[in-house]
Amino acid sequence: MATFSMFGPGASNTPVVSQAPMAVAAEKTDDSRPAKRSRFDYNDGLDVLVGEDEVKFVLHQAIVCTTSLFFRAICNGKWKESEERLLRLPEVDPEMFSIYLGFLYNRKVDMREERSADMKSLKTVTGEALIHLHDRAIHAYALGEMVQDAAFRNAVVDEMRFVWTQPGQVGHQRSIQTLCATVSHRSKLMRYFVDRWAVADYSDCSFRDFYKHLPTNFVLELACVHTEERDMHVADRRVSARDRCFYHDHESEADKCK
Ligand SMILES: [Zn+2]
Repeated sequence: MATFSMFGPGASNTPVVSQAPMAVAAEKTDDSRPAKRSRFDYNDGLDVLVGEDEVKFVLHQAIVCTTSLFFRAICNGKWKESEERLLRLPEVDPEMFSIYLGFLYNRKVDMREERSADMKSLKTVTGEALIHLHDRAIHAYALGEMVQDAAFRNAVVDEMRFVWTQPGQVGHQRSIQTLCATVSHRSKLMRYFVDRWAVADYSDCSFRDFYKHLPTNFVLELACVHTEERDMHVADRRVSARDRCFYHDHESEADKCK
């Protein structure tokens, strides 16, 4: 069983939990009294076994519960997992979980497999590389739905907007099939892809050819957006023209990004 810490595979032997600044702060108390405990124990780690091979990740509950309603329920609940501090997620891809941890600890989502200083090359990604990028974004977003973490889902869409900036490029139909089979029908990531396709240039082929390999649900969404926004100028319908929060999940207006 491989072990990953929040610092990645290279630091798998690092005692992550004991090094946490938050854990240290929680411990700091009058020596004569026992440490005051909050509803869930900030000093306890949570072991998560991910994927069929049960790759082990060690999480700080105080951090993982900040934005994930799923983990908050696990940490606060009276469940077997809560007591054992051990959770199994066999259906989750360890690579996606690693991306999620990157967000939890660094507030950044990086879906590229290799970091590159040359951002230009990332913005012109095409072909199989683009399909792969979309696959990773879609599965990361689906993980955000599973763990009920809106902040992570928002960050995934933001990263998509940052990395994939080719105007008029819609991606591959295969990615849309993956999208429709993986994320919820009314998700903001779905809307993001719909909007890209809605303003795409299909002048070099017939309308039927352009849409024929797309899932029916997606075509219906496209039709709805076309109908709802038929009076808008095409320039205003581009994803680049929309407010960032248009593709975010926020509970209220007050929660929107500043
Ligand atoms: Zn926002």
